[in-house]
Amino acid sequence: MSHDTMLHRAQARLADAAKHLNIDPTILEKWESPKETTQARLTIQMDDGSHKHFLAFRSRYDDTRGPTKGGIRYHPSVTADEIETLALLMTVKCALANLPFGGGKGGVQIDPHPLSKTELEGLARGYVRCFSHVIGPNRDIPAPDVNTNSTTMAWIADEYAFIVGEWTPGVTTGKPTSLGGSLGRDDATARGGYYLLQYMAKHIGFTPGARVAIQGFGNAGSHMAQLLESDGCKVVAISDSKGAIVCKTGIDIKKLNAAKERNGCVTSFAGSNGVSKIAADELVSVDCDLLVLAAMEDMVHAGNAANVKAPIILELANSPITAEADEILKSKNFVVLPDILANAGGVIVSYFEWVQNRQGYYWSIEDIHALLKTKMEEEGAAILALAKDKNITLRSAAYVHALSRLVGAIY
Ligand code: GLU
Repeated sequence: MSHDTMLHRAQARLADAAKHLNIDPTILEKWESPKETTQARLTIQMDDGSHKHFLAFRSRYDDTRGPTKGGIRYHPSVTADEIETLALLMTVKCALANLPFGGGKGGVQIDPHPLSKTELEGLARGYVRCFSHVIGPNRDIPAPDVNTNSTTMAWIADEYAFIVGEWTPGVTTGKPTSLGGSLGRDDATARGGYYLLQYMAKHIGFTPGARVAIQGFGNAGSHMAQLLESDGCKVVAISDSKGAIVCKTGIDIKKLNAAKERNGCVTSFAGSNGVSKIAADELVSVDCDLLVLAAMEDMVHAGNAANVKAPIILELANSPITAEADEILKSKNFVVLPDILANAGGVIVSYFEWVQNRQGYYWSIEDIHALLKTKMEEEGAAILALAKDKNITLRSAAYVHALSRLVGAIY
């Protein structure tokens, strides 16, 4: 099998896991390609009356365990290969979290930042018009991902209701609570990772007051910064797509949030309170106890993995560490809390939202937090035991655990 595409590299991780299970190797052939990927031309009307056209995708990688589930991202680097890879990762993630879902993903090749609010609305509604025959509450359920949020999901649910002729809240998750969204979905990705970290702490040597560097200050990164700061950690470095900042005594996250809101970048916070600027790609080599990767894919690679100083790395982004980098980190005895478990909190609370939409009865924030915590601990315990038993990394154990669930659903 050639390893030259992102998808091939993700499939190689699955093939590695298969070696630890007593399964018919031909079973993996099922996941050599997605069940279906749809590509469309998405046209939006700009505020000046002109029309612009963008490439849009939705991939339903695998529905062995239920309707496909996964976010929609807006990013200029979106390709079919990336979307299919992320849809495969969602397949593995949903199996690992034992959710009754398969894996899907969607994306539009666009930089949404220059768009006005009406243009963004046109983009979300245009996406539904492209894929209304693909998505559905029992077929394929989108959610937020990079550069999309609860407002995007509100427009998606509204456009879908218009097309099918009835309000169908379970067609998407991550909606505003006023439109059937779940309490606790907003910070769910970070909170899931935080619960996992707390649970694993004594096994991996994570101690209170740790110094943390966070790559990425979007939904996952900013909520994680807040959770860790309130837990007594010192957030010594943070980056976003425009640059990075460091502060030995700890960055004040509330103040940073306000600065980012005002100026659109974390570097605007430099110059006061002992905060200084560094280049964005220097973030992974900052001296600290925990590195949280909450940006994009392949950020830690063969070229910079040896510079990582944090002995514990938590993956809140999808696939932020390449296979080559994994080997380097392993040789240094560093622990990686792998994406498919560490960032599963988002899709777990998405599942809770979908269940609440189907029953029309809504749970308290305390219930959501307790259910999320239990899930992270249950699956965390399972992969910890597997890793010890087979003497493999937590990532390999997570793949083995997920693959055995996937295979168990094939009749
Ligand atoms: N986009 C998130 C992820 O990659 C959440 C997906 C969902 O909630 O369906 O896991």
